Amino acid sequence: MQKILVANRGEIALRVMRTARKMGIKTIAIYSEADRNAPHVKFADEAFCVGPPPSSESYLLGDRIIEIAKANQVDGIHPGYGFLSENAAFAKMVTEAGITFIGPSPFSIEVMGSKLAAKDAVKDYGIPMVPGVDRAIEDPELAKAIAKDIGFPILIKASAGGGGKGMRIVEKEEELEEQMERAISEAKSAFGDGAVFIEKYIASPRHIEIQILADQHGNTLHLFERECSIQRRHQKVVEEAPSAVLTPEVRQAMGEAAVRVAQAVNYEGAGTVEFLIDDKLNFYFLEMNTRLQVEHPVTELITGVDLVEEQINIARGLKLNFTQDDLEIKGHAMELRVYAEDPVNNFLPSVGNLETYIVPEGEGIRVDDGFTEGMDIPIYYDPMIAKLITYGSNRAEAILKMIEAIDQYKIKGVETTLAFGRFVMEHEAFKTADFTTHFVKKYFTGAELAQGKEEEAKVAALLAAYLTDENMAALKAIPNSSSNWKKRL
Ligand code: ADP
Ligand code: ADP
Ligand code: MG
Repeated sequence: MQKILVANRGEIALRVMRTARKMGIKTIAIYSEADRNAPHVKFADEAFCVGPPPSSESYLLGDRIIEIAKANQVDGIHPGYGFLSENAAFAKMVTEAGITFIGPSPFSIEVMGSKLAAKDAVKDYGIPMVPGVDRAIEDPELAKAIAKDIGFPILIKASAGGGGKGMRIVEKEEELEEQMERAISEAKSAFGDGAVFIEKYIASPRHIEIQILADQHGNTLHLFERECSIQRRHQKVVEEAPSAVLTPEVRQAMGEAAVRVAQAVNYEGAGTVEFLIDDKLNFYFLEMNTRLQVEHPVTELITGVDLVEEQINIARGLKLNFTQDDLEIKGHAMELRVYAEDPVNNFLPSVGNLETYIVPEGEGIRVDDGFTEGMDIPIYYDPMIAKLITYGSNRAEAILKMIEAIDQYKIKGVETTLAFGRFVMEHEAFKTADFTTHFVKKYFTGAELAQGKEEEAKVAALLAAYLTDENMAALKAIPNSSSNWKKRL
């Protein structure tokens, strides 16, 4: 592989290109009109505009992207995450164009892209599942019978769902019919597939997932877990590796289960098997993501493995050059997704201009980002600005590093999740690892930060008043000062 096209934007496009360059591979960027001046465009050896800002007219145009690749002697396409990364038809088109898709086969993507097909594929492999049904449900009466059997609360989920979307909690029977209708119509409009199913709503779970690597020679390994329980809207904001609560035995059992899940679909490449665990450390299969995950850096830091390099080598047909026994966890890594969102205001997107943008630096600090000072955050895409990742020899050290890095990170012009990240790191429940996916709902109202902001504003106002008084005094001391002062202004 000599030349790779990265079919993505932002931090992940840059992240992939960095490794490609390190491996002596040339890189091609694609971009929309909104990303003309983006760092991933500047970093690449060559770059091509694919269309106007909306993703449906640019980053999702598989045909156009493959055309560019063919015209420029590209021999590999890396899809990153989001966009076309879990699109089986795209993977197939790439392969049919004689280009290597850096990811699993269209078959694996297709099966795992449907939560129902995924459950069906792994059912004979001894994988514990969340109690529920493994087929699409349309009939409300049948749904009621199933729900009563499993016990409320239940969760109605879209089979094609992703990114935390397409889920509805139902607390009691009376709500079921209406919620189901809504879920089906939402699933149809968001994912083009109205299939929904029912899962037991696990009361206080943690989200723990296992990183997988599988080559084309039958070797499938796991690279331990990532804990991703700090979520808002069923989407991750803080991740870490390893989890502070797994015992070596459960870690091994989950790792082995994840390997079996991957083997069930002849998986090749990097992938992630997601589980929920309950307070007794029982684990249940949720889904598999057939791509590089947003939070992959925490695994890289604790294992020393460059996951993008492995993806590329696997796609080249190379054998993994380490075994399960060679892998061990060293230290602890923490990640905060720095979103352009206002945590005080329900994490609503806060797009605008990055008037000030200064990233933290230092040992044990890694920033994966796709922005520079002065850039606008486009409204068209996911509002993630950066991933702030820290590493320490143990969890407490990684947390301290994170607080230090958050304090050094200076962003002005948009609201961000930085202050929220600090709130998490300093929270007793987080420090003692006594938390679930309900952390945000349970402990965070937004007022915690609003108070900080109010105090900041008060200090600023006092300072301004003080300075004005001083200026006034100074002014009085200078004869005819008012005219001088004006001139100087
Ligand atoms: P991860 O699963 O890697 O932890 P996310 O769940 O946040 O991270 O998803 C990664 C990216 O993919 C995000 O940009 C998210 O918006 C996008 N994404 C994932 N699944 C879908 C989907 N089915 N439809 C649209 N966007 C999706
Ligand atoms: P997505 O494809 O959107 O990532 P997932 O099935 O991975 O969907 O679920 C995302 C999140 O939603 C989980 O991390 C968890 O917080 C919550 N969730 C999903 N299923 C359940 C369940 N059965 N019980 C409780 N929480 C759940
Ligand atoms: Mg998921």
